[in-house]
Amino acid sequence: MGQNAMNSAAESVTNNKVLVVGAGLAGTEAALFLARHGIKVVLAESKKEKPNPAQKIETMAELVCTNSLKSKDPNSGHGLLKHEMKGLGSLVLEVGEMTAVPAGDALAVDRVAFSEKITEVIENNPLIEVINKEVSNPEVLAEQMGCGHIIIASGPLTTTPLEQWMVGTVAKEDFYFYDAIAPVVDADSLDYSKLYYKDRHKPVPEEEGIEADYLNAPMNKEQYETFIAALVEAEKVPAQNFEDYKFFESCLPVDIMAERGVDTARFSCMKPIGLELPNGELPYACVQLRKENLEGSAFNLVGFQTRLKYPEQVRVFRTIPGFEKASFLHLGSVHRNTFLNARKVLNWDFSAKAKPHIYFAGQITGVEGYTESASIGLYVASQILRKIHGHEPILWPKETAIGALVNYVMTSEKPRPSNINFGLLPTVSLTKEQRRDRKNRKRIKKRLASERARAIYDDLLPRVIPEFVGT
Ligand SMILES: Cc1cc2nc3c(=O)[nH]c(=O)nc-3n(C[C@H](O)[C@H](O)[C@H](O)COP(=O)(O)OP(=O)(O)OC[C@H]3O[C@@H](n4cnc5c(N)ncnc54)[C@H](O)[C@@H]3O)c2cc1C
Repeated sequence: MGQNAMNSAAESVTNNKVLVVGAGLAGTEAALFLARHGIKVVLAESKKEKPNPAQKIETMAELVCTNSLKSKDPNSGHGLLKHEMKGLGSLVLEVGEMTAVPAGDALAVDRVAFSEKITEVIENNPLIEVINKEVSNPEVLAEQMGCGHIIIASGPLTTTPLEQWMVGTVAKEDFYFYDAIAPVVDADSLDYSKLYYKDRHKPVPEEEGIEADYLNAPMNKEQYETFIAALVEAEKVPAQNFEDYKFFESCLPVDIMAERGVDTARFSCMKPIGLELPNGELPYACVQLRKENLEGSAFNLVGFQTRLKYPEQVRVFRTIPGFEKASFLHLGSVHRNTFLNARKVLNWDFSAKAKPHIYFAGQITGVEGYTESASIGLYVASQILRKIHGHEPILWPKETAIGALVNYVMTSEKPRPSNINFGLLPTVSLTKEQRRDRKNRKRIKKRLASERARAIYDDLLPRVIPEFVGT
């Protein structure tokens, strides 16, 4: 590129100031990525003026619950995500490693030191201007500050005026305020001798190789009543004061059903009607499992959204027949959560269909977790950088961890925030020999999927960030 073109690229860069709303995990990643690539940023954060009840410190990128940024194992979903984030220059991982505390295979951090260091890096960057202010209309603020692009990264506890602006401007009815998540189980960890395929009220398909859509775990009376008692007794996550639980009757957590009466679940999510066993008998109750992906490598426990604490879920759900050695890819939860129906309102680069200069990043797009949210901050910032330099958005292959997250939220019929797990990546084919190796099959699959992801990502990365930009 000649000097004139360089000058005009630099000029257009300085004319393309970006407003980032929310200095959480996604917002700080996006702001620093852009600044490190020569883009001016205004970063607006509400917590000093109006902290939400989950926030305990004044600094940025607060980890509101656990201090873990999850696994570092390169052959895990989180390990893959970290590899991809590092390639994009992740601030969260850079500071995470600086402030790490011993946690075995996981990257856990001193949360105060982590948040303070992130704040220091952001505040010391001459291209980032921080405004401590609740944003209720990002377009008005962007105009006042001379910003041509906006990233909204206001997280699962977005303040009410901004939520209202989103509903009115980009989301309409495709907007969610709270989230009830059912657990997802790894298909390889189930004991199929105790389970059977059958769709409710439909005959079992006779054609060889064709399965019904649902897998069922039948229970007799004694098993069912013991299970319901265990749900009632299990320890639950207490509601935080900002989470005034209001449940839709059609979407009640299974433990609330259990508390309402021993038979409530049997007439709802555990109802056996139309699910006759292969011998024609009707079980007393049934847990239904629905495929999470086309490959059938993961199953969702239908209607099993729950407030049980994570270890309690593992303990109680492993008493379901066939679940004795179940490995959960995602556990259930119920909490306040602001997120969009991305498939309906966003383009693949996470710009809004209704207003393409407004982008969304972080948990609000429909991913879940600290690192997942941060990774989407990097993804969106890199797409804006491309736009500023006159490049088309780049589609990330779904074999990569970030590509898999993007693909998940953009194709999910019923949006439900997800963390990164191998169930979101296309399955890898195994040789006959590898398939027969039951003991190591799962490990081999993960290793192969990880190798494939790294190879695709290494080829993609130089194309993601335009080559003439960099610091
Ligand atoms: C109670 C709770 C506990 C969680 N625990 C975990 C956990 O243990 N592990 C995990 O991996 N994930 C957890 N999550 C999920 C989630 O991934 C994290 O909340 C993550 O921080 C999301 O990143 P984010 O950048 O999208 O949003 P956040 O990190 O929440 O950042 C959003 C920022 O935007 C600011 N903001 C909001 N509205 C406005 C406004 N109008 N104007 C300006 N600024 C605004 C907020 O103050 C905040 O600083 C939890 C979520 C919640 C709600």
